[in-house]
Amino acid sequence: MAKLNAEDIIAALKEDGSVANRLTSYEPRQSQLDLLALIIRAFNEDALCMAEAGTGVGKSFAYLLPAMHFALANKEKVVISTATITLQQQLYEKDIPLVASTMGEKIKAVLMKGRGNYLCLRRLDDVLHEPPLDESEYNEVLKINEWAHSAPLSSETQKTNTGSKSELSFLPSDFVWSSVCSESDLCLGIHCPWKEQCFILALRKTAQSADIIVVNHHLLFADLAARYQGAGYENSVVLPPFNRLIIDEAHTIENAATSFFSAEFARTGIFKQLSKLFHKRRGNNRGLLIRLIALLPSSIDPLDEMVAAIEKIRTCAEELDNCALEICGTDGLFRLSPAVDESFLKKNLFPYFKALNKEIKKLTGMIRDLTENFEDKQTTKTPFTQTEFSDPCVWEIKTIVKRLEGITEICDVFCKYKKHEDDILWMEKQKGSNNINNWAVFTRTPLDLAPKLKDSIFAPNKTVVCVSATLALNDDFSFWASNCGIENLPNRKVLSGCFPSPFPYSSAVLLATPTDAPLPDENGYQDFVDKAAGSLSSVAGGSALVLFTSYQSLTSAYLAAKSELSSLGIRCLKQGEDDRTRLLQDFLSDTKSCLFATDSFWEGVDAPGDTLRLVIICRLPFRTPGDPVFEARREAVQKRGGNPFMELSLPQAVMKFKQGFGRLMRRSADRGVVAVLDGRLLKKTYGQLFLQSLPSTKTSFDSFNNNINDIENFLY
Ligand code: SF4
Repeated sequence: MAKLNAEDIIAALKEDGSVANRLTSYEPRQSQLDLLALIIRAFNEDALCMAEAGTGVGKSFAYLLPAMHFALANKEKVVISTATITLQQQLYEKDIPLVASTMGEKIKAVLMKGRGNYLCLRRLDDVLHEPPLDESEYNEVLKINEWAHSAPLSSETQKTNTGSKSELSFLPSDFVWSSVCSESDLCLGIHCPWKEQCFILALRKTAQSADIIVVNHHLLFADLAARYQGAGYENSVVLPPFNRLIIDEAHTIENAATSFFSAEFARTGIFKQLSKLFHKRRGNNRGLLIRLIALLPSSIDPLDEMVAAIEKIRTCAEELDNCALEICGTDGLFRLSPAVDESFLKKNLFPYFKALNKEIKKLTGMIRDLTENFEDKQTTKTPFTQTEFSDPCVWEIKTIVKRLEGITEICDVFCKYKKHEDDILWMEKQKGSNNINNWAVFTRTPLDLAPKLKDSIFAPNKTVVCVSATLALNDDFSFWASNCGIENLPNRKVLSGCFPSPFPYSSAVLLATPTDAPLPDENGYQDFVDKAAGSLSSVAGGSALVLFTSYQSLTSAYLAAKSELSSLGIRCLKQGEDDRTRLLQDFLSDTKSCLFATDSFWEGVDAPGDTLRLVIICRLPFRTPGDPVFEARREAVQKRGGNPFMELSLPQAVMKFKQGFGRLMRRSADRGVVAVLDGRLLKKTYGQLFLQSLPSTKTSFDSFNNNINDIENFLY
């Protein structure tokens, strides 16, 4: 292995260095150089690395330089995974070309988005031949076809070279795009009649010869999970084989992995699969089964029997759904925990799972009999098992059979929940519009992700660098490391380091918290929040992000503050009123606006300058009881004699608190206030852990009235 020359690479980021000279707003940052040095070691020493880099450290150049030099020197691919498309694009379009321009040698980088972002030519062809669509949808398909194959000069549409949805000049409906986009289990790969023109195969070919591959966490997990489940580490799976990995925005990998290693179903999904098999349109029979039957000898026509089986599955799925919704009750949630009375479930829930299981197996058995035992009359009288690619409908049907059988597996696991201690099993109500047509989702999630993450990410790769603004608690990585399985790798070198933000927090940020506010569990707390959120936002003149831990509390404060703020010309925006992207655009485009939000807005909001001068954290972000995954993991800690509050609730809350605090300062010239309305920050011993996790700032720990004065003096 050719080792990296640390001195040369670090020099590129120092003042007058080759990379520094190409950056328009370069500022020397010691923490960036220190981070770079650590990552160089991770490559040279085949080590795992955890790095917490505060906002403004310039982490992307600190990992791109070693990654790109290592890839060139060793002819080894380096995969860089991020959580957001924004960061992927910034790396691919700006940062990588900038570093490449300093290297003197050509370096090949490729951006691979999730599979669903690309057009599948075979599915497009299928939809054109048997459109399950109305006229306007069909017109969209025609435009996509033009874009894919031969956009004429007169057309607004340019012919695409990549098949990426982002290149389309219009936004197709979700239904249309989901009918023509690539899906892993529907892909025929090298057996596909469209393989020569296929965008996905072309992209994979490009990735084979790339030095740097930029992906998102979902695609990374699709690859890692397939390798972990037996595809091996030497072959191309979703990505070409690799040994060196950089995970940016690494604090999100647990969530990405949770959704990837979970399995779920709902009646809506079952209905979708069934209607792909068979549906009626304007009195005509349509669907894959019709195409399958056309391939059979005319003496065989099992359609009526299959349609009856499909109807039975529909009925069973509906009955299970109704029963689950009733059990979920007003909470909208029900977990099959060890504490739940099994006799109740045996009587009231399991019969519906079993009935659905039985009916699905009946249909899939019939289809398997057909596809495995009969001959394809269109080809050479060979069984479908050998000629399944002669008509892609056979392949699609087999995929649907596998998906339906996956549902029977979940049904089985739910009925044997006592034996599945390593799984978290729950049902959750999803609301249809106007609370009508609600449906239940049945989910199975691993209780402990650490072994899966350890075996799929950290054990098999020589270098794994995890970078984020929030991985450590008081410079200690053990909470994150144990959740992600880095701890139990005795033969691996693990490096870590915290690299503070170079931003002037001590002069540019005021942290205010009232000493006279009720605690969250005391009477009057919500009234206090309702008044305080409005008063603080009006003092700041808008430019405020108000963060909540519950939608109920958000709504109450929003309603209380709206009219007062509107009379001052401050526009109030509320999460749930519009989709996240548009809401953020509105917030960013109006510096006098005020955004009331929960959950996902605690991170990923990048509002620099005057767009955000005040962040209000209404309550310390402890997880609210009721989250089934969190509750199950708490119980597991308790069962092994641990302290769930100290080991789970508190560290998670501190991590989220840091994310919320981090929304304020996005550029070094930013200036503003973080107001925390939760008195536990000062009154409880554990409040210290929250305070210690923040950079040093100016403070106003005083009565609320004095907080207001201090904020006014600080801002104006
Ligand atoms: S190879 Fe797969 S993604 Fe490509 S056109 Fe064929 S089915 Fe679609």
